[in-house]
Amino acid sequence: MSYLVNLQCYECGRFYDAGVIQTYCPVCQALLFARYDLDAVRRELDRDEFRSRPAGMWRWRELLPVHQSENMISLREGDTPLLRLPNLGSELGLSRLMVKDESLNPTGTFKARGLSAALSKAKELGVTKVIIPTAGNAGGAMAAYAARGGLKAHIVMPQDSPRANVEESRIAGATVVLIAGSITDAAGLAGEKARAEGWFDVSTFKEPYRVEGKKIMGYELAEEFGWTLPDVIIYPTGGGTGLVGMWKAFEEMEALGWLENSCRPRMVAVQSAGCAPVVKAFQEKLPCCDYWLDASTIASGLRVPKSFADRIILDDLRESNGNAVAVSDEAIIQAQKRLACMEGIFAAPEGAATLAALETLIRQGWVALDERIVLFNTGTGLKYIPAD
Ligand SMILES: *Cc1c(COP(=O)(O)O)cnc(C)c1O
Ligand SMILES: [Zn+2]
Repeated sequence: MSYLVNLQCYECGRFYDAGVIQTYCPVCQALLFARYDLDAVRRELDRDEFRSRPAGMWRWRELLPVHQSENMISLREGDTPLLRLPNLGSELGLSRLMVKDESLNPTGTFKARGLSAALSKAKELGVTKVIIPTAGNAGGAMAAYAARGGLKAHIVMPQDSPRANVEESRIAGATVVLIAGSITDAAGLAGEKARAEGWFDVSTFKEPYRVEGKKIMGYELAEEFGWTLPDVIIYPTGGGTGLVGMWKAFEEMEALGWLENSCRPRMVAVQSAGCAPVVKAFQEKLPCCDYWLDASTIASGLRVPKSFADRIILDDLRESNGNAVAVSDEAIIQAQKRLACMEGIFAAPEGAATLAALETLIRQGWVALDERIVLFNTGTGLKYIPAD
């Protein structure tokens, strides 16, 4: 089923056994990437075969890490629609503007993809209890997949996370601990509890498989574009799993010989002006990010003061000739209204931020009007309605 071979450290290139539980490289504290036997996949599978399988992320199972199908924990995540945005496009003068609408995933955000992959693999390796520090949506997704897979779930989130994230986690039977501070403070607490009590820590990039679930967004895009890739991808970046995952998918598909040409998209990371470590490091041409003090934004998924994968995010942006843009919360709210009233899409603030960033890029002349531009709406706005 899976063509997974081993794991490889992004920094030092050492290989690790994928048959046992792994976290990150103990030598360089850097993340481990799953490596597959791509030569065998290339010989044995046809790229067009995947289309005929039942819909969802797991139709790409040869390129996902799970060996036994009974370990797959799935709620039919993935295969989200790629929608044209004709009304906004014509207002902005863009002929080929699209949105990949990840709000249709289980639990209403694309976090479902990563947690489906990570919890399935953890289950396969014998894990029975999982812990996560989260800005909100990853907790809700983890609770759902843990419930379905029969795993115990413990969630640490900032007390000002959206109310929906707390409720969806608790109803699925997870223990939720609310803390003062940001996801970084939550990560400290979760890490301590994991070490002391043997919980498996599913923090972004501190285990190798969430990014595998998210990379499938890249495979879906290539298939939809007839095995080419769009010109520009605009992605709201917190921990950066989706961005790094899609870039990995493009590399894999190139090695598989599945792409019609070698044109990769220019990747744009969007952050909120109240927490923009990637944008700052990109503009200052630094190799990694400084910790962002007093992070604050309505886009809770973007409130990540420093990603564990900051170096890789910056490498991928630069390799793609991409860009990084910060937008204000006011611009996000305006963009959210425009997406809803012009196209009927009630986007999460993180998703709306991509439209706000696009407007900046048009003003700067950074995008050409006939380019194929894909915005990522990573979640539904419904999860952010304040409780009164
Ligand atoms: C987590 C999250 C993000 C950021 O995703 P990364 O892949 O970790 O950068 C963006 N939008 C929403 C809605 C999220 O929940
Ligand atoms: Zn290493």
